[in-house]
Amino acid sequence: QPLISFKNVSKIYNNGTVGLKKVNLDIFQGEFVVIVGLSGAGKSTLLRTINKMHNITDGDITINGESITPLKGKKLCKLRSCIGMIFQNFNLVKRSSVLRNVLIGRVGYYPTWKSVLGIFSPEDKKKAATALQRVNLAEKIYARADELSGGQQQRVAIARVFMQNPKIILADEPVASLDPLTTNAIMDDLKNLNREFKMTVIVNLHSVPLALKYADRIIGLRAGELVYDKTITEVSEQD
Ligand code: ADP
Ligand code: ADP
Repeated sequence: QPLISFKNVSKIYNNGTVGLKKVNLDIFQGEFVVIVGLSGAGKSTLLRTINKMHNITDGDITINGESITPLKGKKLCKLRSCIGMIFQNFNLVKRSSVLRNVLIGRVGYYPTWKSVLGIFSPEDKKKAATALQRVNLAEKIYARADELSGGQQQRVAIARVFMQNPKIILADEPVASLDPLTTNAIMDDLKNLNREFKMTVIVNLHSVPLALKYADRIIGLRAGELVYDKTITEVSEQD
């Protein structure tokens, strides 16, 4: 059974813009999927329908066979707590420390009053430190988030997702604003989470060489339509 299944999914924005058009797609547990396409092709829309940041207009999306369309309240929170998200602009709390930004991953969508007030257990702090070690940022633990370079901020975001321990990671153009060396470090971090913890990773990229380097499977979108879907071994020169 697929982990995530799109069945004839369309998304039309309120102003009439087509985000997705009749998308059929099955994603399996443990896959590292890269979505490529020009700006405006619908990559971001597709990712955001998976955690219901956007509601779809037509069709259905299931996760583990269960439709997410009717989910509300606590059930929606539960869905979101098993999905981590990485953004192009990092989305850190700029004036908070790196440690606090990573601890936020622990709050999830069922915050306790302590976590709301920013009180975390020693165990969680230890976990956050370990998460920062994974991304080679142990020495920045008490730095303010906005003092870090872009690549470092994105590694903090990856440590935050690691703290969340999600089943699925959605990464929306995670390296679009980064230099090539930093780009590889970030992609390696995502690949490691995929390999070590079997987290299913879906990444939007506009670089085809990068997609070829990291993907198990490449999906192409054009004007909201799924126009390409091949595993990395099926990809050929003519593509
Ligand atoms: P990509 O991530 O591939 O650049 P998007 O999913 O962001 O593409 O956008 C797909 C289409 O939907 C584009 O035409 C875009 O302008 C439009 N779109 C995206 N978000 C909105 C929105 N909130 N309201 C209206 N149109 C939107
Ligand atoms: P301003 O600079 O206008 O005060 P900020 O964007 O710095 O606004 O933040 C406003 C409030 O929102 C702050 O309390 C900040 O900690 C919080 N905040 C900002 N970004 C995030 C985020 N990604 N997640 C959670 N809280 C955030």
